[in-house]
Amino acid sequence: MNVALRSAPSIVAAQPVDPLDHLAAHLFHPLGADGVYARTALYEGIVDKLAALISRHREAGTEVMRFPPVMSRAQLEKSGYLKSFPNLLGCVCGLHGTEQDINAAVSRFDAGGDWTTSLSPADLVLSPAACYPVYPIAASRGPLPAGGLRFDVAADCFRREPSKHLDRLQSFRMREYVCIGAPADVAAFRERWMVKAQAIARDLGLAFRVDTASDPFFGRVGRMKAISQQQQALKFELLVPLRSEESPTACMSFNYHREHFGVTWGIDDADGAPAHTGCVAFGMDRLAVALFATHGIDTSAWPASVREVLALD
Ligand code: 5GP
Ligand code: ZN
Repeated sequence: MNVALRSAPSIVAAQPVDPLDHLAAHLFHPLGADGVYARTALYEGIVDKLAALISRHREAGTEVMRFPPVMSRAQLEKSGYLKSFPNLLGCVCGLHGTEQDINAAVSRFDAGGDWTTSLSPADLVLSPAACYPVYPIAASRGPLPAGGLRFDVAADCFRREPSKHLDRLQSFRMREYVCIGAPADVAAFRERWMVKAQAIARDLGLAFRVDTASDPFFGRVGRMKAISQQQQALKFELLVPLRSEESPTACMSFNYHREHFGVTWGIDDADGAPAHTGCVAFGMDRLAVALFATHGIDTSAWPASVREVLALD
């Protein structure tokens, strides 16, 4: 019956197999939703070692902050996220009514009905990138010092794009170095990090190339924004060919926001002009998946140089 059907060879053969699928059983446990996984000790051990490696590359004078997986909805709205990626945003919601309203929702659920129609939005969203909360914090400190400010930030991020691919998670870890300063500070920062990040990828034994890129801006107007971003070379990505050369996976990005956050949050540089900002983002989960895809699941058999750079013992 059902059991026989599920194991019928014709049905198994019809399932397209992604080249990363063989890693799943070693790295993740299912949690009932695509792109949201529990992580094995093997996987998490490598994420920790990667985080330590990135920390060892931190530049002097960089302030460390760690953010929770949620952030102020008002701050994200003010950042302009809804103009660019409204389709990807996850918003916290809750049962905010009276005791009677809340009991009614639960009773509806108990009777097999839909309790979620009683939900209303909270003042929080799930952070879609690690760096958004740092700009209002920097703004609260007044004008920037000469040379600008640098931050090391990280957060669990959420983007609503369910996928069965192991390199497209809905909930993933992002680590970023951020520079807020005069245009020349940010340009130099991004130059430095594009060199450093490629050295890190090389040390990790990853095949990669760096190319200009665009963000997945929403809708028809968004497609024009993406073209302009490409033309101005505002975004580069470090691309690792995990499933093919033609559709590689972005494991890091190098972003120049120009004066967007400086104007939005009223941050002035040391000359009194709106600050420019830039960030380098490390996709911790994609980098970890890339390492296992490249070197295999037996970390004791990874190249000695890779084991050394990650301080695996
Ligand atoms: P960006 O803001 O440039 O889109 O994302 C920064 C980095 O986060 C990307 O280079 C990538 O490594 C990581 N990232 C973005 N989207 C996803 C995703 O859907 N899944 C995973 N695992 N990482 C992602
Ligand atoms: Zn950023």
